[in-house]
This record gives sequence, structure tokens and C-alpha cells, in this order.
Amino acid sequence: MDHFLYRNGELHAEEVRVADIVAAVGTPLYIYSTATLTRHYRVFDEALSGMPHLIAYAVKANGNLAVLKTLGDLGAGMDVVSEGEFRRALAAGVPGGRVVFSGVGKTADEIAFALAHNVRQLNVESFEELELVSRVAVANNAVAPVALRVNPDVDAKTHAKIATGKSENKFGIPISRAREAYARAKSLPGIEAMGVDVHIGSQLTDLAPFESAFRKVAELTRLLREDGHDIRRIDLGGGLGIPYRQANEAPPLPFDYGALVKRTVGDLGCEIEIEPGRLIAGNAGILVSEVIYRKQGEGREFLVLDAAMNDLIRPAMYDAWHDIVPLKEPAPGVEKAEVDVVGPICETGDTFARARPLPPLGPGDLVAFRSAGAYGAVMSSEYNGRRLVPEVLVNGDQFAVVRARPSFEEMLARDTIPAWTA
Ligand SMILES: *Cc1c(COP(=O)(O)O)cnc(C)c1O
Repeated sequence: MDHFLYRNGELHAEEVRVADIVAAVGTPLYIYSTATLTRHYRVFDEALSGMPHLIAYAVKANGNLAVLKTLGDLGAGMDVVSEGEFRRALAAGVPGGRVVFSGVGKTADEIAFALAHNVRQLNVESFEELELVSRVAVANNAVAPVALRVNPDVDAKTHAKIATGKSENKFGIPISRAREAYARAKSLPGIEAMGVDVHIGSQLTDLAPFESAFRKVAELTRLLREDGHDIRRIDLGGGLGIPYRQANEAPPLPFDYGALVKRTVGDLGCEIEIEPGRLIAGNAGILVSEVIYRKQGEGREFLVLDAAMNDLIRPAMYDAWHDIVPLKEPAPGVEKAEVDVVGPICETGDTFARARPLPPLGPGDLVAFRSAGAYGAVMSSEYNGRRLVPEVLVNGDQFAVVRARPSFEEMLARDTIPAWTA
């Protein structure tokens, strides 16, 4: 459930009429719901109740400072994958002690930054990274708290671009070499390996791959303890999927995920960390756009919007489906016609939906892409000279612009022309 519902025939974000936000900010724009973000955080928190745990929200799903502050104030930790994301977490008031640093390619500077800010944990993904983390820690008179990310060779059964837990993926240390890696970690002066980490992919719609990965982690944890390692934390990553098609998708619920966590790793006495991104932010956001043209093609009709793939790349990149709804609630029983919903960018890939049954819509009408709160604005760009899409956060009957649409002047001012040109 989210908080984008029709009231009196018009789409609302919580108690605010979406059309009122459009009147103030223009289109395209993203709108996020505080109530939905809060609810999703709490659902996870309850699902893991009874076990010591930290919900480290994956900043990469939606890193707007207002979103991070909202979640951080509830007690969330943050899972970051770069110094830039780390700085976002800090700027939102989340201390380094609640920040987990993930990622396959941390640089020496990023590791030093994390240690200087008392990072809770570095999730280390290779033997090579272990050596670098130890060197940087020693140079800074620190000992790095480390979890090793193991690759359990589990098929997450999700889109190939977001599956990360198979042996052919670039992520983690093969689980078959994990004991060797922990032995190496123990011999290094700058490392304290106290955790095991796993993340097998994103948008998982079935619990079975999680179950096999978590069982492998539990078994490994027992072996590592026999080897004399003091494993105190287990980080199970993110990845729980959301329903992008309200009509016919029912991915597992956080409650069932929590029960699975308890069943598989709950008896180890470890602190549990999870890193959900999409499930917290995905259904907490919409992208609102205006129809520019209804264009007649050969045997098909195109709805040309003022939003494009640079604003929401998921359909082009992951073949993703987003429900598209008009801001004005269609009359019951209104006839739908199939249209291709496209943006203005000069690429055929700039297509949001093909042959999508939609009620009659024409120039000036407003539509919303649902489930656009995760991997939406964070992946936006200025491709085709388009201004970065603005973001708005709603809270009850209030809304605030939390990232303004830049002016064309600001956009141009970032480039400089070298002196040698005439
Ligand atoms: C992307 C990512 C996440 C978040 O995944 P979601 O599917 O958004 O929950 C968590 N941990 C790591 C290491 C990631 O790369």
C-alpha cells in the first residue's frame, strides 16, 4: 500500500492534490511520500523485531537528503557505495557509526574517508581490497571493522542487470574461498573481520533464492567460528522486490522475509543488518508528466510526454514496467485504447510502455508513473540538454521542493570554454 490515491476524482499524494504541486513546480517532477517511507521502514523494523538489528537503507535507491533525513530520524542506518553517498548520509545527520560502506571498487581515499568518520563497517569484496583496507587503516592508526561479502553462487532469478549473487558476477568473494579470506584478514594488522555479508540481487520476487543464500551464510558463520573468528554481525543485503504492476504482482512481504531471516540465521546470536533500498523508496514515489502530443503513427498511436528516459531510465535499462495513471480519475467503465507512451529524446529506447491500454488522454493532460521512488531521480541525467528533474516531498497536507529544477543558466555555467579557442 502507498499514499498515492484518488480522492474526489483526483490523484493525491497523502493529503495534497498532485495537480497543486504541478501548478507550483511544473512537470516533469518526482513526488515522494513521507508516510509511505515511514511505513516501509517500520514494516521492516517490525519484521526483524526480537533480533538485534540495523536497517541500513541503500542510499543508491534514492539519495535525496530529505529522504535520508526522514529515514535517519526513524533510526535507520545507511548502506553507501561511494564517498558521495557517505557524505549524503552524514549531511542528513546519520553518524558514521550507522553507515555501512559497500561496493566492489572502493578507492584508498574513500576507505580513508570512511575510517576518519568512524564507519560502522566496510563490506569488503575481494582479497585485493582486504590488503588495501589494511594498508590504509594502518597508515591512519586505525583498525577497520570489516564484513567480507561472500558470493554464494545463488541465482536470484531477477533481471540479468541486477543479479549479483552468481559466481560469474563481479561481486564478492567466492564462498568456497571464504575461510581462506578470513584467515588472510586475521593476519592483517589493519583489519578486524567481525561480520559476514551477502547481497544476491535486486527486485527478487521469490524468497527461495534468499533462503539458499542465508542458509549458506549461516553454515559459513559456524565454520568461521570453529576457525576461531569472532563473527558478531550478519549483513543480508537488500533486494526484496516490489509490485510494479498493481494488478498482477504479489512479491513476498517483509514479514515473511523477516520470518525467513529468523529461521535461517536467527539462532547464531549475531546482530542482523539488512540493506533494503527499493522496498523502502520504490512505492514511496511517483513521476508526474504532461502529455505534449497524441501522435498518430502507422497502425499505432503515440502519447508523447514531457518526461523522458533521462528522467526515468528503468524501462529503457531494465525493460521495467511502471503503471501509468492519469491525475484525473477515469470514469468507471471508460473505454481504454492501446498507446505507446514515449518521451521526446532522440532514441527509440526512450519508450516507457508499448501498446499500453490507457483511458483517453491528450495534450495538457497529466499522468503519473507509479513506483518511481527508487532508481528514478538518482539515475537521472541531462541527456539531450534536458534540465535535471526536480523532487518534492509530501508530509500530510504539506509539501516542499527538496531539489529544485535547475535553470538553464545554472546548467550552462558548469561548463567552461578553454582560453585557446577564438
Ligand atoms: C543495490 C544494493 C542494495 C539495495 O538493493 P534493493 O534491491 O534496492 O533493496 C543493497 N545492498 C547492496 C550491496 C546493493 O548493491
